[in-house]
Amino acid sequence: MKKTKIVCSIGPSTQNWESFKGIVDAGMNVARINFSHATMEERKIDEDLVERANKELGANIAILYDTKGPDLRTCDFENNYIELVAGAKIRIVEEDVLGTKDVISFNYKGILKDVSVGTAILLDDGFYKLVVEDIDEDGQGVTCKICNGGTIKSKRGVCIPGIKLDVPYVSEQDKKDIQYACDHDGDYLAISFVNSADDIREVRELCSQYGKPNMPIISKIETQYAMDNLDEIIDETDIVMIARGDLGIETGVENLPLYQQMMIDKCRERGKRVIMATQMMSSMKSNIRPTNAEVTDVANAVLAGCDAVMTSDETTIGKYPVETIQNMAEICKKVESYYKYDNQYGYNKKDINSIIAHSVVTASNELSSKLIVAATMSGHTAASISNLRPNAMILATVPNEKVAKALALNYGVYSKVVGEYGSTDELVEDGKKQAQEFMNLTHDDKIIITGGFPNTGVKTTNFMKIEEL
Ligand code: PGA
Ligand code: MN
Repeated sequence: MKKTKIVCSIGPSTQNWESFKGIVDAGMNVARINFSHATMEERKIDEDLVERANKELGANIAILYDTKGPDLRTCDFENNYIELVAGAKIRIVEEDVLGTKDVISFNYKGILKDVSVGTAILLDDGFYKLVVEDIDEDGQGVTCKICNGGTIKSKRGVCIPGIKLDVPYVSEQDKKDIQYACDHDGDYLAISFVNSADDIREVRELCSQYGKPNMPIISKIETQYAMDNLDEIIDETDIVMIARGDLGIETGVENLPLYQQMMIDKCRERGKRVIMATQMMSSMKSNIRPTNAEVTDVANAVLAGCDAVMTSDETTIGKYPVETIQNMAEICKKVESYYKYDNQYGYNKKDINSIIAHSVVTASNELSSKLIVAATMSGHTAASISNLRPNAMILATVPNEKVAKALALNYGVYSKVVGEYGSTDELVEDGKKQAQEFMNLTHDDKIIITGGFPNTGVKTTNFMKIEEL
């Protein structure tokens, strides 16, 4: 079993049982349903597939809903596309138009007031570049030069580096989607284009209103503004997604390697989970094999300390979704089998829970134990151990499915739903039994059992026991 978790984006390629079963068997842990693309019908198909996999295959796939966020896009075009001609001029106007090769508009108003002559406007994931050459006197339009030519489809993403949309963070559409995620008891809510801790607090408040005050929130870091506010965002969020697709366009790709390592280190220091996302296995959209660079990218995400890696269009619209997840899982396993983390992060010498986690990991590594069993009501005990990256696997024994799924993104943690224990002895006895069911353990193998008793729910870890089988 691998320790690094895989978030698999679901789409047309995986919306049938055969492919879905394939990606589950290959090692998907979390299914991402992207509100930017998934219609109501598609959401239902995806949810049914997850439910079926969890029932029929005994899988424990969690659902991650991902909001659209305030993303700037082009208008619709005549015939659904236009031809951009290098060197030609194109106008961008505030007024809504049906786009042609001569004039287009964006989905948000008021953005043109912030551009000046020389501002670069990037279209379609940064693929096409326009440069502003002239601004109308009334501010209602600008004329741009097209730097490179090609065909662009309707409603493609627009990025104007350094310019922040002056709109409320949560749109009416996002509000409905957040309510949908809460009503459908989503396991995680990813929020796009977060700029500050306030944005996260606003979403949390909405989740509370919709009856899910504890919804785990994944902040997608995809703007320079988010990078500038990284510390406050990490403090406020539950999980970070390194959303390299938009971040790379906005900040310049040369900044990505350092930015991603900075995010990973800051998350680990604070015990927050971190997901590496976008273009991890891009070429597998049409090829059955990944490139060496992609293999190395996945491996490096594991080495750098990510909890999870993610697929995007490789698995939503690609030709080889199952092979993509199989390859990813193999790469993770290979790296994990060799690499030993020195546990340097997230150890608080004043916190009992943290001290026990540290002792568990130290003992486990020194004894080369194969498994740590963490009896946990809230998931916290297992999460703190995971953040210290022991060499052993972690089996979390949890009270219900919800807690099991809340641990689906934690490195090295697998969960088993068990009943409540009446005593420490019972907890230890059952821990041994669960351990043997979970993996092949032989005579002489050592396992570490940890937990809290009596367990009041949060941060009550108070013992560890080393068991020789
Ligand atoms: P997206 O986010 O796939 O929703 O755009 C990820 C990214 O921008 O990298
Ligand atoms: Mn994005």
